[in-house]
Amino acid sequence: MTASLFLPEFAYASAPQRVVFGLGAQERVAAEVAMLGRARALVVTTPEQASAGAALLAALGPLGVGHCAEARMHTPVDVTEAAVAVVQDLKADCFVAIGGGSTTGLSKALALRTGLPQIVIPTSFAGSEATPILGQTEGGRKTTLTDPRVRPGVILYDVALVRTLPPHLVVCSGMNAIAHAVEGLYARDRNPISSLMALEGIRALAHALPNLTSGAPQDHDWGEALYGAWLCGTVLGQVGMALHHKLCHALGGGFNLPHAETHAVILPHAVAYIEPTVSDQLRPVAEVFGSATASAGLMDFATRIGAPTRLSDLGLTAADLPRALDLATANPYWNPRPIVREAIAALLARALVGDPPQA
Ligand code: NAD
Repeated sequence: MTASLFLPEFAYASAPQRVVFGLGAQERVAAEVAMLGRARALVVTTPEQASAGAALLAALGPLGVGHCAEARMHTPVDVTEAAVAVVQDLKADCFVAIGGGSTTGLSKALALRTGLPQIVIPTSFAGSEATPILGQTEGGRKTTLTDPRVRPGVILYDVALVRTLPPHLVVCSGMNAIAHAVEGLYARDRNPISSLMALEGIRALAHALPNLTSGAPQDHDWGEALYGAWLCGTVLGQVGMALHHKLCHALGGGFNLPHAETHAVILPHAVAYIEPTVSDQLRPVAEVFGSATASAGLMDFATRIGAPTRLSDLGLTAADLPRALDLATANPYWNPRPIVREAIAALLARALVGDPPQA
């Protein structure tokens, strides 16, 4: 019989957050603004999702005061500062963000600076809506902070809104979500509840993503993936991340590689490095994928759903590897297996060209 997730010692803190799941976020959003006791909502989107923002503003009726369609990847501080001026001009008293992690990032950055509440309507599987984490960039440098004031108070999940996610983002954003949960399973500060959510999140995405990438996906499949993404994001918001996230932050920050795609390529390699040290915690992941090891299962799964498997396809070159290694091994995050520079160099070299993961 498989062991339970019991731990002899742990700490668990739940965060206050209202989560509403199902179709019809647009029909519900005005009621949610009213429930917060607010009356002047500013809609936040990227330029690419401006039309979704315009539809949401219309749905808010008299409770919507405007639309800021300026969200960008990595939350540039100058964009946030310009948006704060818009908030002040319009006398907005809350934010309604509709989009992926970049849009949620701008909403969080505005909440931090203004103290105003947020309703987030996620349209990708990034999971930022469930975390108190904010990454921001200024002068080409990305810094990350954790602050309960940036955790959105309300999340509205609407299956209809993820259906428009471009196919490559379905796959990569899904792998990004799985990565949060996998790292949560061996986090130093994990607890039985975070592990429970992590495993269920991985199960949901492992089941849903192949259905989303082949044939004619149904609302049930989109819903199952979004449910998995919520669980995985909640894990990210609860426990510390390790080597995998460190590598992705180094590559994303140092070389501007795309966020979700980088997670998709790196995950099987980072897990292969860590797995010998935490094979007990990762055994359930291997079982989910019907594989001898979690890393092999993740690699097979990524290949099957058409995820990128080479950093070279994302724009990294062999000449970048020495600097990537320096960034990846500087200020290491806590990791279950000590970081050995030569081994990380080999890992990055394999990930560059898509060679099979190795311990
Ligand atoms: P993204 O938000 O940058 O979205 C990529 C593009 O896809 C954008 O143009 C966006 O408008 C568009 N898009 C998103 N959903 C869509 C949909 N349903 N239909 C059509 N277009 C859609 O990408 P992402 O992967 O969701 O988020 C990545 C960002 O989120 C990174 O900056 C990352 O650092 C951050 N992030 C933060 C946390 C956290 O906890 N702070 C967690 C995960 C990710």
